[in-house]
Amino acid sequence: MGQQDKTINLTWMGTAGVFISDGDTGILIDPYVSRFGIFKIFLGLNLQPNKEAVKMWTKRLGANKTQAIVVSHSHFDHCLDASYFALETDALLIGSESTLNVGRGASMAEERLKAVTCGQTITLGEFKLKFIESRHGPAFLGRVPYPGIIDKPLAPPRPARDYKLGKTFSILISHPAGTIVHHGSAGYMPGMYDGVTADIVLLGIAGRGDTEAYLKNVPLALGTKLLIPIHFDNFFIPLEKKMKILPTAHFKEFLTAADRHRASFALKILSIGEKAAILPAWKNE
Ligand SMILES: [Zn+2]
Repeated sequence: MGQQDKTINLTWMGTAGVFISDGDTGILIDPYVSRFGIFKIFLGLNLQPNKEAVKMWTKRLGANKTQAIVVSHSHFDHCLDASYFALETDALLIGSESTLNVGRGASMAEERLKAVTCGQTITLGEFKLKFIESRHGPAFLGRVPYPGIIDKPLAPPRPARDYKLGKTFSILISHPAGTIVHHGSAGYMPGMYDGVTADIVLLGIAGRGDTEAYLKNVPLALGTKLLIPIHFDNFFIPLEKKMKILPTAHFKEFLTAADRHRASFALKILSIGEKAAILPAWKNE
């Protein structure tokens, strides 16, 4: 089968977690399945990664051929489970130095850790991943929660505040079947996508500022054909329970704003755990 014939499948795992695969190469971005209750987070209690849930999701996703676990920033809802997915699938853990310190805290072998910096491109099978400098959304009362870096190995259980931000990346994923941008946190830098296009944007929407400005600077700037919103589910509720919208995601307001641009891009809402064939189907629509 030629490269162009390959289908890229995407499964959303809730939050900014996605599994992307072309059948030969699998990439997990920001997988978070431990899902602690809101009081545990805000009371600063210790968080123990749920290795059983990691095992179950690896099976459910068919993620055994996963080459890499990629982390867009080091907050607990992006990074806490990543090392355990890497250990479970024998994959690389790729991210900022802060993310790698979470891997070290999980006793990952140093050769399975890959640090990336802004502007860097890495190749995984037929995928090319470019790490673009981004900004975290003003998620909590107008402030970025848990700023700073993780400067030494972080062994769980630790409270949410110890999962400090580190660098924030958006990830441009190029493949012969098409291009995808994973924009996991709802901040941006004006002009960050100058000269970049993407068929599909996976857009984190919780904790954004002005919706219209966000759409202008991310999906519209990228000339995207398909917008898939992510990180709008209430991640203080276990994944086994029925999905609820995170109140601070202002989901209806987002949908109304996005609908004004329906001449530019389509909108696809995925269910958690639903596998969708996204490319090349959406490449030239
Ligand atoms: Zn975050």
